[in-house]
Amino acid sequence: MNSPHRIDALTPGTFKLDGEEVEFGPGDSILEAATRAGHYIPHLCWHPDFGAAGNCRICTVKVNGRTGASCTVQAASGQEVQSNTLELNEQRKTMLQMLFVEGNHFCPSCEKSGNCGLQATAYAMGMQGPHFEELYPNRPVDATHPEMMLDLNRCILCGLCVRASEQADKKSVFAIGGHGIKTHLLVNSESGQLGDSEFSASDRAAHVCPTGVILHKRQGFATPIGQRRFDVKPISEQVEESKT
Ligand code: SF4
Repeated sequence: MNSPHRIDALTPGTFKLDGEEVEFGPGDSILEAATRAGHYIPHLCWHPDFGAAGNCRICTVKVNGRTGASCTVQAASGQEVQSNTLELNEQRKTMLQMLFVEGNHFCPSCEKSGNCGLQATAYAMGMQGPHFEELYPNRPVDATHPEMMLDLNRCILCGLCVRASEQADKKSVFAIGGHGIKTHLLVNSESGQLGDSEFSASDRAAHVCPTGVILHKRQGFATPIGQRRFDVKPISEQVEESKT
């Protein structure tokens, strides 16, 4: 029997996702192959251009009965993958609720509302409230950069900006530091402020944040709420559209 985590990097084939046949190529993870084939597996910290980190665990699926993050489990022939089940979607909803209460996410006043991956995924998983007690952490806003700002109240520590800055921009402007509940996003500059870093509005890292942390100044609410990406169509129906 195939191990769900078997590395089968050189052989293309097919696996079954929720009963449907999905083709994969050499080296594909389950999430990569499913996304290419137009199947929605909920996720937050994965982006096709920046590899897998396995941080958020929202993309957890069952592979031959064993759980694993579909962004890190290599696709292999004959796998039976379950994703869209009540059990897994309830687990995802719980993880999303924990992310909401760990930060300060006030959707109605957020510039990212309607374009936010966290909000859209929560809607897709049927989340209607936070369930857990809000922690209301004290987090800073950094407006020291002439073109960009950081509202760390909304950071879910997905690490996408870290990987984009390293891999695409070759700058390493961001890092994640601290432990446990004190884990937080760091800016790589002498003062720790964005304005003293090498960050630029044209960086790839300036365009990958799934929530409303990394914002472009003087562009607020350019598209009215109600007409934004996930206002128009749910995230589960935008699998093949390019990510921004
Ligand atoms: S700032 Fe945005 S992209 Fe960076 S770790 Fe936080 S949520 Fe993720």
